[in-house]
Amino acid sequence: MQLKSLTMNGFKSFADKTTLHFSEGMTGVIGPNGSGKSNITEAIRWAMGEQSAKSLRGERMPDVIFAGTALRKPLNRAEVTLTFDNSDHYFPKMPDEVTVTRRLFRNGESEFYLNQKACRLRDIVDLFMDSGLGRESFSIISQGRVEEIFNSKPENRRGIIEEAAGVLKYKQKKKQAEKELAETSDNLARVYDIVHELE
Ligand code: ATP
Repeated sequence: MQLKSLTMNGFKSFADKTTLHFSEGMTGVIGPNGSGKSNITEAIRWAMGEQSAKSLRGERMPDVIFAGTALRKPLNRAEVTLTFDNSDHYFPKMPDEVTVTRRLFRNGESEFYLNQKACRLRDIVDLFMDSGLGRESFSIISQGRVEEIFNSKPENRRGIIEEAAGVLKYKQKKKQAEKELAETSDNLARVYDIVHELE
């Protein structure tokens, strides 16, 4: 799976429709301070289902919509599309090319599309969650987060490393399975009691 392109239209400083094509290997984005480098990673996170306006450096979600400049009026809509090469079927049961689109209007109305078909936010979140690229994953690390990781306590840092390594997901599944096992044992004990009473 590879991110092939990113199209932003009305997202933060990208007022005009802008498409970035990512070729194989590593891509670096360079530019002066305030030119919109972080806005690019935020556009990717937003399209992947980010629900926290604060983590996108805003107060409310509509803050991601182009707010206008001295020379240009604000826009009423932000739209971001991610196109993935899925020829390795990293996203199972999906076509060779997968597109994800998120659109937001200033009145708060949102639309989500998976392969050009309208879907729910949940569908997008689930798609990435199952792939290990979920919202809380460390596949995208913002500037402030790096500092936070270095300054965190060893046990918290361990949690971060476990999450990055994909261990946390299994720890949570183990906890859930243990809880279900305990509940099943309780139910079994109750059944044995009833059988005992009936005998
Ligand atoms: P640095 O190198 O300092 O980290 P950067 O290249 O990462 O900067 P960004 O933080 O991505 O830059 O972009 C900041 C710019 O985006 C600012 O000029 C800000 O005014 C603009 N911006 C942010 N939100 C909006 C918005 N909703 N509408 C218009 N412009 C916006």
